[in-house]
Amino acid sequence: LQFDGVPMSEDSGSYRGMLFLLQDVTDIRRLERMRSEFVANVSHELKTPIAAVKGFAETLLSGGVKDTDTIRSFLQIIYDESDRLNRLIGDILELSKIESKRVPLEYAPIHLKELLDSVTEVLLPAANKKSIVLLQEIPEHLFIEGDEDRLRQIFMNLISNAINYTPEGGRVSIGAKVLHEGGEQEIIRFSVSDTGIGIPRKDLPRIFERFYRVDKARSRGSGGTGLGLSIVKHLVELHRGAIRVESRVGEGTSFILDLPLMHPID
Ligand code: ADP
Repeated sequence: LQFDGVPMSEDSGSYRGMLFLLQDVTDIRRLERMRSEFVANVSHELKTPIAAVKGFAETLLSGGVKDTDTIRSFLQIIYDESDRLNRLIGDILELSKIESKRVPLEYAPIHLKELLDSVTEVLLPAANKKSIVLLQEIPEHLFIEGDEDRLRQIFMNLISNAINYTPEGGRVSIGAKVLHEGGEQEIIRFSVSDTGIGIPRKDLPRIFERFYRVDKARSRGSGGTGLGLSIVKHLVELHRGAIRVESRVGEGTSFILDLPLMHPID
């Protein structure tokens, strides 16, 4: 609580009394803290790849390394880290646009199965590389009203995470069913489930926070920026939906996503 007192006086200048203002600033403070934490995190996240690029470039420039294989591997690191930097900046800009609500959704009827087929097609090579089976059970002829690019982005993030955090030979299943069918507010419930490493119970409540990762090294190693789920959550909320996660370490993780079947009118 913030407490302010202001002396009040008459027009004539004579003292009249005090005006006290008692304001609950918890939310404001929390937002301020979140913002400055975010700036600190962003700086840290950007500094890591820049330091790697600079360090390896310096070593190469010094001319001390003669072996061509070593030179190649250093150049590869510089390339990969620049790539990461690029993705990181892209995700940061994307998140800030979404958070400041500068992304008007373009609602249109979307054929769900086609949308998910196009997402899994892109991700199939990554799954095949790890012998992960991608299963998809989406009812035919089901349409949802939503922003196609944004919905694609949601599923891309969830399914690529499922592949990333699932060891060789695992399974990723994508399902969809309609809830309250025929009712006034039909909802479509999606699930993206994997047989992967799972998420410890203590981390579950924080998983949608910006830059929060269970295992930083692992996330970085797989090219993650730590912003994917945050972006997903915002996009789901822009669609007036909700997302939650269930997980067991060593068994797997399910993301459950509810979206209104039709565009909700304000
Ligand atoms: P990242 O780029 O690190 O994958 P995300 O925001 O997409 O960032 O996810 C945040 C963290 O949540 C990940 O670093 C990982 O620890 C955890 N996570 C996300 N999806 C899964 C999953 N399917 N299985 C296990 N852990 C997951």
